[in-house]
Amino acid sequence: MPAPFHKRVPVMRILIVEDDVRIAEDVSKAVQAAGFVADMVHDGDEAWFIGGTEPYDAVILDLGLPGIDGLTILKRWRSEGHRFPVLILTARSAWQERVDGIDAGADDYLVKPFQIQELIARLRAIVRRAAGHASTAIQVGSLNVDTRMMAVTVNETPVQLSPLEYRLVAYLAHNQDRVITQAELSEHLYAYDGEKDSNAVEVLVGRVRRKLGEGLIETKRGFGYLISNPAT
Ligand code: CA
Repeated sequence: MPAPFHKRVPVMRILIVEDDVRIAEDVSKAVQAAGFVADMVHDGDEAWFIGGTEPYDAVILDLGLPGIDGLTILKRWRSEGHRFPVLILTARSAWQERVDGIDAGADDYLVKPFQIQELIARLRAIVRRAAGHASTAIQVGSLNVDTRMMAVTVNETPVQLSPLEYRLVAYLAHNQDRVITQAELSEHLYAYDGEKDSNAVEVLVGRVRRKLGEGLIETKRGFGYLISNPAT
């Protein structure tokens, strides 16, 4: 049996703040194709509110916005103690903006116009750095979750999962040895405007269990679900 190791890579919910709806939608599609859940907002006031109240794992933040500007939002989030990684989007000529953005607590920046693949690579990097290490795999006993390839194996046998099923497994594996309530799961699995129904979570868990094999996802009656690491 290979030595189990303990790695934590967050996947999950990304907030996209961009007033150019076309860019926002392109980014949103790419972010979802990369295995994240994406919420989009197009003005500063809504961005400040939703970023301060919903549990995001990272934010892509355009600086020039109607309402409160991006730099002010970022400063406010940081002064309120929100630590999620932030990737700022800036105009080509605005070097001062980039300096101000980094000073205000941005983790990285990208100059417009950008290649969508570069945005996704930088997003993955800030999410990994926020988790404190540079790996893309989570291993829990016989289960392996490759967060870059969005691939899951059990005893090195690939398991075919839908994007939603993958997110469930990745979240439980990332939070191994912790009981996750249905409420927390639906918060992290479904987008802001999406379905938040505990029955849906139950049905989803049942389906994933059949694919992974019994015993990997445990149920704690009245509390929630967990994947426990046999090595800890
Ligand atoms: Ca803008």
